[in-house]
Amino acid sequence: MDDREMDSFVASNLTASTLITKENDVSIKRRGKQLLLIAPRAAGWLVLDGLEAEFWHAMGRGGNWLELQTKQHPLGAKEREALMGRLYRVGLIKWNGRGYYNTDAMWQYGRRYPTFLCLHLTEACNFACKYCMADSVPSNGRMPVPTMELILAKCMRELPPKCLRFDFHGGEPLMAWEQMLHAVRFARELNEKEGLGKELSFIFQTNGSLLTADKVQILKDENIHVGVSMDGPAEVHDANRVFAGSGRDGADRGTHALVVKNYLAAREAGIRVGLLGVVHEPADYLKCFDYFVNELKARSFRLNYSSFIGRSVRMLDFPATRAEAFADYWLQMIDRALAWCREHHEKLDISDVDNQLNNLISKQRPFMCYRSPCGVGNSILGFAIDGGVHACEEMASTGMLRLGSVFDEGFNLKDMVESNPLLLDLQKRTVDSIPRCRRCELRRFCFGGCTSKTLAYYGDYMHESPMCRFYQRVFVGLMWRLYDNPDMLSYLGSRCCKPCC
Ligand code: SF4
Ligand code: SF4
Repeated sequence: MDDREMDSFVASNLTASTLITKENDVSIKRRGKQLLLIAPRAAGWLVLDGLEAEFWHAMGRGGNWLELQTKQHPLGAKEREALMGRLYRVGLIKWNGRGYYNTDAMWQYGRRYPTFLCLHLTEACNFACKYCMADSVPSNGRMPVPTMELILAKCMRELPPKCLRFDFHGGEPLMAWEQMLHAVRFARELNEKEGLGKELSFIFQTNGSLLTADKVQILKDENIHVGVSMDGPAEVHDANRVFAGSGRDGADRGTHALVVKNYLAAREAGIRVGLLGVVHEPADYLKCFDYFVNELKARSFRLNYSSFIGRSVRMLDFPATRAEAFADYWLQMIDRALAWCREHHEKLDISDVDNQLNNLISKQRPFMCYRSPCGVGNSILGFAIDGGVHACEEMASTGMLRLGSVFDEGFNLKDMVESNPLLLDLQKRTVDSIPRCRRCELRRFCFGGCTSKTLAYYGDYMHESPMCRFYQRVFVGLMWRLYDNPDMLSYLGSRCCKPCC
């Protein structure tokens, strides 16, 4: 409903006898005289200023519209009526005991089947990044070709969705280059031969070091999408992304120069290359942003925070206050991004900023990591080199969240989604079942964080995210920013259309 439709809805439905009551779980944050009101069940929010904020207090618990209309207060009649419409529309008040949204039904997603299918083609890597989730070394094993073909065929024959996206991971998938090409051609041929009618797409995430010109041309011809991992400028990137074998002579050997060279050459050759940075020191958000936007002229990229999974557990520190520090720098980066957009009259697509903004302005939750339950086993699957099936790619090298193996007798992926006991239990990880999240005013914006990261950190997935305080600060910070900067959406709010949606 737009503003005009809302005005006419209010005019025809708000009568003198309409009983207006506040939702009983409204959360209030103050900034001077301004109030930020959050409606947890509907995921609505509103900032009130001046007389409107005062009227909110004057309303008490509520009353019928005639009483509220005639209450002694300087807020004008028209403004009061408009305010009742806005409060109702975001879920902060009820009219005659009914909210604008049916909040019991609106967050039910029903059964989903995975569409984002990540194969760890190899666990070998020529880098030894300090936060590597797969703890890769050059001598690690590969997925045998028959195993890979079996996985591809089972996904295409057994999973109901029409659109399937295969994502090749590792380790470094370009160390299994021929195998990756074989996988793409095999899947396309099988689709054709068996008339499966799937819409297939292919992507892989590479460290960039082996992305040579001949490969780029083939990727272009084969329409295979590529994402390069790069952590911003050399001093940040080289702190963690080092060649395997570094350190034996007492010195790490950074990989930045080679990665940047290959990334730029690939872009120059005309393929779209995604950029993914992993941030371990919170202040590095700003350095990564500056480097990507100003040096590399990238207009679309993703920045993840490092996770307590794999090698990082041994190699890196995870201080208790990291979530707050990450939030503060993330918000500073958003401020910097908005200033840049205004100065250059250009948009930026920074994932997850777009997902977070989406959750503040829409009830749709397109991105699987901001749903409840999250995408584990219902939107994504990770396949280990031995044919193991994991509920998320993040766990495919760890042995955790293993649902079975494609070699298990009678194993069928559709049946697995419908009846695997671990998968069914994972689907119970919702913000309504996690003790702390259940009471959280931001639960329908945040949705409890990543199941895999929570399990890795606490050893228990029925727990709030280890980055809980990041989400708390970021979502409230973004609400104030959206109120202060109405143009923010047009510059940074391109809604998520990531392959993993
Ligand atoms: S993880 Fe934290 S911020 Fe997110 S819903 Fe749970 S309690 Fe709220
Ligand atoms: S486990 Fe984490 S990464 Fe995997 S789908 Fe859930 S939120 Fe996303």
